Amino acid sequence: MTDVLVWVAYSASAMTLAALGVAVVRRGRLTTAGLALLALIVATLVWLVEAGWGLAFPPADRAPLLAWTMVAAALAVAAIRILVRAAGDASWRATPLTVLPYGVHPVAVVMVAVIPGLRALVVVASADGTVSYGPVFWVHAVVAYLLLSGAILEMLGARDRIPFLAKFRPVTMIVAWALPLAINLSLILLAPVGAADMTPIALTLTVGVLYLTVLRGGFSDLSPIARAEVFEQLVDAVFVTDTRGNLVDTNEKARRLAGLDEQPVHSPHISLQEACPAIARVVDTPGEHDVVIGAQPLVLDIAISHLTDERGRHLGRAVRARDITQSTAQRRELARIHNALAREASANEQLRAELADQALRDVGTGLHNRRYVMQLLPELVARCERDGLALAIALIDLDHFKVVNDTWGHSVGDRVLEAAAKAMESVTPPGMIARFGGEEFIALWPGLTVQEAAARADAIRAACAGVEVRTREGVITVTASAGVASSPPGDIDAYALIDAADAALYRAKDADRDRTWVASSH
Ligand code: GH3
Ligand code: MG
Ligand code: MG
Repeated sequence: MTDVLVWVAYSASAMTLAALGVAVVRRGRLTTAGLALLALIVATLVWLVEAGWGLAFPPADRAPLLAWTMVAAALAVAAIRILVRAAGDASWRATPLTVLPYGVHPVAVVMVAVIPGLRALVVVASADGTVSYGPVFWVHAVVAYLLLSGAILEMLGARDRIPFLAKFRPVTMIVAWALPLAINLSLILLAPVGAADMTPIALTLTVGVLYLTVLRGGFSDLSPIARAEVFEQLVDAVFVTDTRGNLVDTNEKARRLAGLDEQPVHSPHISLQEACPAIARVVDTPGEHDVVIGAQPLVLDIAISHLTDERGRHLGRAVRARDITQSTAQRRELARIHNALAREASANEQLRAELADQALRDVGTGLHNRRYVMQLLPELVARCERDGLALAIALIDLDHFKVVNDTWGHSVGDRVLEAAAKAMESVTPPGMIARFGGEEFIALWPGLTVQEAAARADAIRAACAGVEVRTREGVITVTASAGVASSPPGDIDAYALIDAADAALYRAKDADRDRTWVASSH
């Protein structure tokens, strides 16, 4: 019964190994990890055949078969070591020189198998006829176990450094390593020589787990090599740091930027701070930064990726620095030109507005001029019509101003005009009084009846009369006459109003001046 079970297990393992072998080969281009897995499959298959052979045809002399089983075991261990190496370090390349150390143990065991003197030490027969493992076997077993322990340690060591190795969960590790170890140990320590060897069956499980996690998972296959290649050739500089801030990986651009040597992985580790202080300084504030590296001013766009394993444990971070010096310089130059143009345009606009305002103002008094009034009038009339307001106009003229000029001189006349303008403005809402020409002023009052307008005109005249211009020769005062006209809304004719106010002013002058005359027809 037990025999049947063993044979079933042997057959199932053999078929599984064959299927895995085909699966590995069918993956196309074989990588180092793929080749190592294939070697492991072949070695396990050989081991399986040898175990089956020993069970089916128990030889009188156990030594030759055991020696060749040792060869298969040594090859399996070597394949595992190479596989772990390739899986843990994508940049590792299998060359005759790098593979050589892994061949020492298998070659030594082959020599044991072919050299009769050594082969005789694989098993020893005691006096009572029982056969037990000999010294050469034990040396091989110890070496094999040491090498396997090395492989496991190597994987554990690589776990923190290489995030994808975190894929190996504890249960995977136990199935992949502990099971064959336990079975093999119990076989060689507890069972008699020649007992059914179940190690290759357990090893088949290991092969299956390795296939799923290492090859099917895409590790150490084409994708990490492609990723490493792309990583190396990225336009961005990438610095990978561990939890302590030590550099664990850099791409070519990063090494060039920081002036590091050509080693992508730095050992002994240096920190990012030591490798590139300028980047270390800005690394906590991603975004655009002006930095100086090696006396060269650069603009870098910094981005950070936090690296975690599947369980969310922080493993370190990848710092990406993109050199945007050139594009930033262009952008800044464009912005500078844009700002300069905008400033110039705004200055021009201000100048234009000032000129436009100047064109509508009188230089001598600072009041608006006739042009302004003529521009304003249609709008003012429209507003009064729209709002149902009357429009009143007053023309105010200084009395006997020619006499002022003739008596005190033209420049004193100017001062009097200016003072009178200020006085008039002070009693009228701003913008409502303008210099209409010479010593004549016009006031525009929407909404005032002719009586109200006359009252305002009197106020203006009073303000004028209150003006005193002091000269060395004496104090000058002036009076003013006003003509007022107003039109109710409905049919306001601004020019007719001005004419009416002018006629009224003439009447005021005629009536001995210093008075307000209201136009009768409005
Ligand atoms: P009336 O009472 O009839 O208005 O007499 P008037 O002397 O004021 O009138 P007239 O029209 O005879 O003279 C106006 C004077 O105002 C003549 C002109 O030299 C003077 N005048 C007009 N504009 C200015 C100015 O800007 N500065 C000075 N100083 N005088 C001016
Ligand atoms: Mg006058
Ligand atoms: Mg006049």
